[in-house]
Amino acid sequence: MKITVEQDKCVAAGQCAATAPDVFDQREEDGVVVLLTDDPPAELADDVRDAAAVCPALAIHIAHWTPRTTP
Ligand code: SF4
Repeated sequence: MKITVEQDKCVAAGQCAATAPDVFDQREEDGVVVLLTDDPPAELADDVRDAAAVCPALAIHIAHWTPRTTP
């Protein structure tokens, strides 16, 4: 899994940090997304996918991720 974020698109909504706190954080001064790791372990893949889906700015991009395997 390879994650990228577009900080210039981020509107500091914070859903990503709430959904996948091991992967996303927010800058203290303005709330803009901070990527903690661009290659998280597989067990966090679903959280990262969900975070990208809820981001209102579509600022989170995922490459090389495998589809959800749990029902
Ligand atoms: S959910 Fe999207 S807009 Fe909100 S802080 Fe995360 S990257 Fe930024």
